[in-house]
Amino acid sequence: MKKKGYISTDNFRVRALKVSLVFTYILCALISGVYLYLGAYLALSMIGLVTPFYLWAWILVKQGRTLTARVLFLVVLTAHLTAAILLFSTATGFHYYYFILPTTTGLFFNHNETRQRYFAGFFFLAALVLFLGFIHSNPPSYYTLTAQWENLLRISSGFMTMLTIFAGFTFIAHEILMSNRELFRLATQDPLTGIFNRREFFIRGENAIQRNTLYNTPLSLLMMDIDFFKRINDTFGHANGDRVLKQFVHTCQTQTRSSDIFARLGGEEFALLLPESGPEEARLTAERIRQEIEDQAVSSDSGGDIYITVSIGISAKTVKTPTLERMIHEADSALYLAKSMGRNRVVLTRA
Ligand code: GH3
Ligand code: MG
Ligand code: MG
Repeated sequence: MKKKGYISTDNFRVRALKVSLVFTYILCALISGVYLYLGAYLALSMIGLVTPFYLWAWILVKQGRTLTARVLFLVVLTAHLTAAILLFSTATGFHYYYFILPTTTGLFFNHNETRQRYFAGFFFLAALVLFLGFIHSNPPSYYTLTAQWENLLRISSGFMTMLTIFAGFTFIAHEILMSNRELFRLATQDPLTGIFNRREFFIRGENAIQRNTLYNTPLSLLMMDIDFFKRINDTFGHANGDRVLKQFVHTCQTQTRSSDIFARLGGEEFALLLPESGPEEARLTAERIRQEIEDQAVSSDSGGDIYITVSIGISAKTVKTPTLERMIHEADSALYLAKSMGRNRVVLTRA
């Protein structure tokens, strides 16, 4: 499966976020240090020190605790804004930043889970109440700053806001990326074995057929069905049946190339489409798989060994089998023949 694009984007975002957060924290610590050194602005120096909490939210995301991270992020953002307004009054216009809250909240909690809807509602109301509260009361400005310090404050708070928004959106982008990846996985993978599901097999198979027709390269299909699998389930139990299926997939994977399309079509039936392989090459691959499966033991959860065999039907793309449907039909007939000839064998049709 090609996921490289996702991973590199992810790494870039995470690295960018990490670097900017560390950078902000150092800058905030420096600014806070200067205020502290001047003696008069203790509270002002403290307010810049909330940055580690944003960093903490990011760490929570990395740990997969995204709900906690989102709540923390919004709580800190709210507290940060409120503290800034209490210190510097509404004259600074800081209270307009409350408008960020409902938007950010909407983006953070856009899932349909009830708990998340409560959180979204809570932050929306909090933003509204705080905004209205600050319009009607005009808290005193605790500090009379010199023009020079006011400038420094403006620059640092502007920087902080920018970084907060950047961190928030990187955070959202990361979440969207993760959920897209999860959706992609759910839509294309067989949950038990991790290989492609039936749906993905048909999508990729059609693409392979088109490429094959365009470039006139060989293409072969293996249909594989584990022999007497019902008996395995009946003898060793369903859980051991599942173990056998996983081990079967693992063994097949050691015999396939990355360009091959390997899928579980259902139950104990698998399809393996081999681009670039003609019928003879496909037969050799199938024979190797059949032999490996016959030779290996799957250890059951009670410690005993389970032996299985597999029957394989092969078809190759020819003028008589130009579609995926035709190829599947031919390989299925070959598989049926393999079963009726006594199982544990490979049959190749020559249409
Ligand atoms: P044959 O040699 O003719 O293929 O015989 P068979 O017993 O393998 O064929 P059949 O199709 O009758 O049985 C397939 C069995 O596979 C029946 C079903 O209980 C089992 N099965 C289907 N899906 C799963 C699964 O996900 N896990 C397990 N453990 N068993 C499954
Ligand atoms: Mg079977
Ligand atoms: Mg079957």
